[in-house]
Amino acid sequence: MSSITGKTRICGIIGDPIEHSMSPVMHNAAFEALGLDYAYLPFRVRREELPEAIAGIRALNLVGLNVTLPHKVDVIPLLDKLDPLAERMGAVNTIVNNDGVLAGYNTDAPGFLQALLSKGIEPEGKNIVILGAGGAAKGISFILAEAGAKLVILNRTLPKAEELASQITQYYHKKLEAMVLSEENLSKALGGADVLVNTTSAGMVPGVDQTPVPAKLLKSDMTVFDIVYNPLETRLLREAKAAGARIIDGLDMLVWQGVLAFEKFTGQKAPFEIMKGAATKALAHEK
Ligand code: NAP
Repeated sequence: MSSITGKTRICGIIGDPIEHSMSPVMHNAAFEALGLDYAYLPFRVRREELPEAIAGIRALNLVGLNVTLPHKVDVIPLLDKLDPLAERMGAVNTIVNNDGVLAGYNTDAPGFLQALLSKGIEPEGKNIVILGAGGAAKGISFILAEAGAKLVILNRTLPKAEELASQITQYYHKKLEAMVLSEENLSKALGGADVLVNTTSAGMVPGVDQTPVPAKLLKSDMTVFDIVYNPLETRLLREAKAAGARIIDGLDMLVWQGVLAFEKFTGQKAPFEIMKGAATKALAHEK
């Protein structure tokens, strides 16, 4: 966005807090690179003001909004249409305004899948171990189940892993094991694993010394994907690299969810490398 004119189209992101979001720098860099007369703004919206903010999309004729914590679930009843994955996940991170009709999507889990595919990993038939059963784990395990992966879910709180496993069985007709996150179960699950995905916040700032997996269980024939992006190199990834494993950090997932949202807002192919460069620079400034 070089300058805002009377024709500039506005999109943005709502959340609380919002100041650490990488989305404004990614999207504005992409608009500038493609010469699009669009601007992307951060809006801090408190929980109790969410209905007014959503009504504001129509009133202000915004192109659309991304949605981050704490609004991803509460926003759903305020929308007119939901894409099937967002409906299953019960979470929306992208709203598109089509002449006052607000459609909700989720690009987080598709962003994860794109990040995996872009590294040449096709999930069909792969043994994938998922650590965590929170919001991110839900979308990721749904999209992996849909893509034909064989999943095991381990979580610190077992009932949450069991609940997620039973949802996957219900939606995708797949039986899968849910286990508590312990060294013994990890050892069992990682035995035949092709890919290990960490969706827990263990290892994220400020707990950077934490890791969900003891280093001795990491092996050279696995890919370790840690979706944490703050820091980019978590203890898990450092130890996986030392074990000779292939590693994927959380940045590509973050950028791909932005790429997919950008394409919904503009109808144009997003410049992945430009958006990744902007996010990398912004993350370095966060430190
Ligand atoms: P969430 O819904 O709060 O879930 C957190 C998960 O982490 C739960 O499964 C929780 O287990 C587990 N956990 C937390 N601390 C733990 C610890 N010390 N040891 C073991 N397990 C622990 O959070 P979320 O939205 O899923 O996000 C999780 C992480 O993913 C965050 O770091 C977030 O920044 C990252 N993320 C990255 C992207 C990306 O684009 N790269 C996108 C979304 C999220 P319990 O159920 O036992 O509490």
